[in-house]
Parts: sequence; C-alpha cells; structure tokens
Amino acid sequence: MNSVSEPVTLSRRVGRFAPSPTGPLHLGSLVAAAGSYLDARTTGGQWLLRIEDVDRPRSVPGMVDTQLSALDAYGFEWAGEVLRQSERSAIYQATLDSLIAQGLAYPCHCTRSQIAGVPGARRGIDGVIYPGTCAAWAPGDPVPATAAWRFRVPGGIFRFRDRIRGHIAQNLVDEVGDFPLLRADGCFTYQLAVVVDDLAQGVTDIVRGADLVDSSPRQMALIQALGGAVPTYAHLPVVINAAGEKLSKQTRAEPIPVDGEAQRVPMLWQALAFLGQQPPAELRRSTQRELWAWALAHWQIARVPGGSGAPAA
Ligand SMILES: [Zn+2]
Repeated sequence: MNSVSEPVTLSRRVGRFAPSPTGPLHLGSLVAAAGSYLDARTTGGQWLLRIEDVDRPRSVPGMVDTQLSALDAYGFEWAGEVLRQSERSAIYQATLDSLIAQGLAYPCHCTRSQIAGVPGARRGIDGVIYPGTCAAWAPGDPVPATAAWRFRVPGGIFRFRDRIRGHIAQNLVDEVGDFPLLRADGCFTYQLAVVVDDLAQGVTDIVRGADLVDSSPRQMALIQALGGAVPTYAHLPVVINAAGEKLSKQTRAEPIPVDGEAQRVPMLWQALAFLGQQPPAELRRSTQRELWAWALAHWQIARVPGGSGAPAA
C-alpha cells in the first residue's frame, strides 16, 4: 500500500524477482535475478523482491534470510519492503471472494484420481484438463465442506508478444481448463498469488524463467478478470544440468558461492554469459562492482537466447 502515497510516475517500469524459499539460490536463480534486475535498472525502473512462500509446506525455515543475504552479497539492490506471500492470505481470500461474486470461481470437490478417471479425460499442457464436473455451481448454491476453488477460464485465444520468445498463443479452455485458485488443503495457489502480488506491487515488466511461459495466459486471464493491466513478459532460457533437468532443489542444484568476491564474480560472469551478454573474459577476475558496471552499461535483452533451456557450461 506504500505505493499509493508515493509520487505517481506512470511511465516508471517495475520489475521483480520472486524466489521460493525451498533451497539456496543456484545458478538458475542468479540468471533470473540478474536478467530481471538488469532489465529494470537499465530503463530507470524499480526492481522489487517477493518471497513466493504461498506453498508453506514446501518452504524451508530460515531459507528466506539465506536467499536475501546471498542477493545482498551479490550486489543486488531492491526497492521497498520484501513482500512475503505467507503474510498475504487475507488479500488472496478477498480476491477469491470477488471472483466468486462475479461468478468466475466455483467450488470443486473432485479428487485428482476422480478427475483422471472421467471417461475421455484429456491431457493438456499442465496435466489432465479438468472436465468441468462441478462447473454448474452458481453463487448462493451450497459449498461442500472441503473444496478447492477453480477459476472459470474464458474462451478465446490469449496472445502476447514475449520480448525474448516472440508470439505466444494459448487457448485456455482447450489446453488448460478451469484451474485451482485455492486448494482443498487451504493453500492459495501460485497462479492466484502471483497475479494478486504483481498487481499490488505495480509490476509492469515480468522477466522470469521460461518454465513459466505456459502460465502466462492463465495469469493474463486472471489479471483481466480483476480489471488490472497486463504487464509485458520476457521469459529467460532455463539453466539445465547435464541430465537435461532444470536446476532446482529437486535436481540437487549446487548453491551459488556467497562468501568471497573472488568466488562470486566468476559466477555472476557465468550468469551474464548464459544470458547472451558476452562479458569480456578479463572481467572474470574483476571486482563485483566493475562487473555490474559493465553489465548495466551493456545489457541488451535482444541478445538473450530464446531457446527453452541450455546447459550452464
Ligand atoms: Zn470438481
């Protein structure tokens, strides 16, 4: 709510980095952080931080401080307070209530196996497409005791021009189906939280990993349902390991070194090289300040490769 009292600068761009506190930051995290940071800072924009701990069972205690210390050690400068999704249940609930009142969300008591067992159940880009078993519900109808809440996706094709990957188009009805906003276990979903938070933080330019490109049309549909402005999107290539897996806690990604500038600078250099920025070789042995100065002076999003994934080396 701080932003309301600040001077209104409508043209100012706002970017963000939003790690989940499931493990220490790795090279893939550094790539996403650096890409969003450079994109915001080289256009006079603000760069914000958000902790995506809406999925509380997956969050590791103490990991938020570990991640913030690492970002600080690497010289990232963020604006304002760090938003934590775990503290925002009330606003997510209020948003869900407004969607329910508009007839855009309905309770669903189906289990995963019930959904998969529906004759003719089709697979979409994110698992089995929900067959609409509970979709006849209308505001005022009884609500089952334990229910998830699903978003009633609109028909038509959602399109955007990704700043790195070009034209993206998706039919939500045919490729995704009505997706959960609140899970039956009481956790709000990533799709709802990310949209509510991007709107609350005034994010204008989303720069993040290509593993989320398929989520963008869902988020656009929610933004439009909530009357918000759709941001621009740029999906960075994802760092993969030798086995072709995305770096993550699940694939045992190596944490980036935090202590010692002589260890951090080559890692940051590697992230810039991965982003196609072609940093001069001698900067591998520069100071962190010098490397950032070079990166801020030379950042070009047009140089970022548009492939979906590439090995770190
Ligand atoms: Zn259902």
